Amino acid sequence: MAEFLKADIEKLMDGVLPWPSVQDMLKSPKDLDRFDKYVEIQQSRVAWDEKILLPLTPALFIVASDGERIVKCRCGHEFGDYRINWKLFSLIHVRDDAKSIAEIYRGREAPDAGWTQVREYICPGCGSQLEVEAVPRGCPPDFEFLPDLDTFYREWLGRPLPDEGEFVDKTLDVITTWDE
Ligand SMILES: [Zn+2]
Repeated sequence: MAEFLKADIEKLMDGVLPWPSVQDMLKSPKDLDRFDKYVEIQQSRVAWDEKILLPLTPALFIVASDGERIVKCRCGHEFGDYRINWKLFSLIHVRDDAKSIAEIYRGREAPDAGWTQVREYICPGCGSQLEVEAVPRGCPPDFEFLPDLDTFYREWLGRPLPDEGEFVDKTLDVITTWDE
């Protein structure tokens, strides 16, 4: 079983690990505590104390916060329950005409504005662009990753989370309140 130093994993994350070492790491069986090392590094890089349960993107994390599991940006901005698509609570910049789409696509690469919207999801706390999606007009925001945290911790890490709960997409619960 390969054992890589946390410092090497940190270099891998930052894209500064030399290519031969990257190859070496890719070919080796994953060490069992790779996930823990990765989370430890991420935790050491944020200024807040809530425990990271799972990194979602380079900027977003599911954290344990006062008995809740919420999505939190590295800047500290909180998006709420992780079972609700965090995009609903972000700032959304939509490109849906030829002119605005041409700002980011060249020539024929540009999608047809009659069919496609390009949506940029921005953190209200720090202004980081968190995600971009090109989707058919009217399509709901793509919920890229709703992880089954309890199964992951129980079955894969062998240490169940103390607050096992219902695993269900709650996004629609929020959207339906928008009609009221
Ligand atoms: Zn942020």
